[in-house]
Amino acid sequence: MSPIHYRRILLKLSGEALMGAGAYGIDPGVIGRLAGEVRELVVSGVQVALVIGGGNIFRGAGLAQGGIDRVTGDHMGMLATVINSLAMQDALERLEVPVRVMSALRIDQICEGYIHRRALDYLEKGWVTIFAAGTGNPFFTTDSAASLRAVEIGADLLIKATKVDGVYSADPVRDPAAVFYRRLTYDQALQEDLAVMDTTALVLCRNSGIPLRVMNIYEPGALMRLVGGAEIGSLVEGGE
Ligand code: UDP
Repeated sequence: MSPIHYRRILLKLSGEALMGAGAYGIDPGVIGRLAGEVRELVVSGVQVALVIGGGNIFRGAGLAQGGIDRVTGDHMGMLATVINSLAMQDALERLEVPVRVMSALRIDQICEGYIHRRALDYLEKGWVTIFAAGTGNPFFTTDSAASLRAVEIGADLLIKATKVDGVYSADPVRDPAAVFYRRLTYDQALQEDLAVMDTTALVLCRNSGIPLRVMNIYEPGALMRLVGGAEIGSLVEGGE
């Protein structure tokens, strides 16, 4: 097996990654497979932090379009990320992977609150640490939460696992002429308004100097190959 290139990573999964072929909610088969891939990383010695979105259940912006107050909608979205995090915790525990969910919102009966030093302790022990409830604030996204936590825990790499292979100049599903970027800078992503992460997340990553990999989560084994040093998906790093 190739040596591990990253000691500590933060993997951001969108809520939609848990849906599989469904239109809503969580597909147990899909979350089980993803948990298996995370287990492989842990067994190989990588410290793994996870942030999971909530878009498979609720997004505040979508709820607001339907008339729900935006702040309430964002609270609902953050709670959706807690639901997904609990499902992933359960899937990992069934594979006997030690794991803790830490929430940015207090829900003491269900999981513990986010405490930076305690999160570092868990990671050092090799426990998967799932950061739930985003940043704990409305008007943010789980991309921003992933960037924030990645910087806080000193991750060597932030991985954004999506439904596409990486970063394109346009949506490759709608535009067959879309160009694939194997490498790009944060400034390029910002200037060309590429669909990588939201601006807050991109600026935080750029200013903190943390590299980002955007890759396809539906490609089995890709995560392991990536931590083994393979060039998977798109790499975003540096300024101009
Ligand atoms: N959210 C929030 N603050 C945060 C993170 C998330 O208010 O710090 C809410 C927001 O409504 C968002 C929803 O939670 O739409 C789910 O997160 P996101 O849309 O990032 O999930 P994903 O698209 O990754 O599944």
